[in-house]
Amino acid sequence: MKNGTTNQIGFANRTYAGLRSLAELPYFECTDGGLLKLTVDGLDGGIDGHTHFATNALSGPKPDLLLRHPETRYYLNVNNPIRMDNYMGQNNTEQDLKDMIESLLGQLTPEGSAWTKTHTIPNLIAEMDLLHIDKAVILPIAYGLPYGDDMTEWYMDSIEKSAHKDRFIICGSVKPTLPDAVEKVKQLKLKGVKGIKVHPNMALFTPNDRLAWAFYEECSLLGLPLLLHCGMVGKESPEAATAYGYTGRHADVANFVEPVAAFPRLRFVLCHSGALQNELAIDIARHNKNVWMDIQGQSVDNIKTMIRELGTERLMFGSDWPFFAEASLLARLLLATEKDKTVRKMIFSENAARFWGLI
Ligand SMILES: [Zn+2]
Repeated sequence: MKNGTTNQIGFANRTYAGLRSLAELPYFECTDGGLLKLTVDGLDGGIDGHTHFATNALSGPKPDLLLRHPETRYYLNVNNPIRMDNYMGQNNTEQDLKDMIESLLGQLTPEGSAWTKTHTIPNLIAEMDLLHIDKAVILPIAYGLPYGDDMTEWYMDSIEKSAHKDRFIICGSVKPTLPDAVEKVKQLKLKGVKGIKVHPNMALFTPNDRLAWAFYEECSLLGLPLLLHCGMVGKESPEAATAYGYTGRHADVANFVEPVAAFPRLRFVLCHSGALQNELAIDIARHNKNVWMDIQGQSVDNIKTMIRELGTERLMFGSDWPFFAEASLLARLLLATEKDKTVRKMIFSENAARFWGLI
């Protein structure tokens, strides 16, 4: 109890001292290893709709994805305060952001990254097991680089060799404006991917670029849903554009309006529900029934708003592991659905199970 005011302030408006402190919530207990274990009765079969392993590419060494590391190095340091009433990425401190950039440079150069080394299959499975999450949708990222851009194949091979093949729903990744994008989608479908992930900011791709229309058409024909990183996160600035070309503005929600309307048979998942542009993303989803939202990062209040404005069927849980521990995002969903356990189950598992054809 903090200052005897806990009851008035409520769990959703408190600041938690770090990952372990989330055990103050009535949903978790902390394990000896510093992870959170779900203690909510009757909640199981979860599907985490948004996860990654190490995102090494270009000249970066590929870490062994089958290794279990004692700790996962998230991009939100485990000792940093966590709030529930902001966009999740806003919990990252300046130091976290510096670490993220250092890690990204390491991932693309022979140096390697001390962070991504720990972003492995068994480390993710350990959290899933504690949180009653049966399956994770795994999202490689194609940057559109001239070489070393084979994250999809690397993830698929590693999952195949692991003892956890049945725990993953594997997506492939493509840069949609490249001349061979359509061919690549066809190949990925043959390899067995269940969907296609595109990261506009990392692939330097604008979703309303007409060069991508053939790619959308092919995904639509093949019945492969498209998961797109969507929305600005408050760290965009023209000055931030590096030699790489990163600005953060490729994923502006405004860029999604045209393709979503032009391909009504193609199922789009707007990852992060538009991030800080949540209202605009809600507007798109309201007008286009082919749009689903992964609620990753949204505040407790915003999740409640989405349930109210859009209904519950098109909302799906996602954590963006290993940027964050899965529990820190699950906490938000649990808080937002405290008064409706049916809705909680739908967003935690049933909607995704239906989306991915599992039920
Ligand atoms: Zn992500």
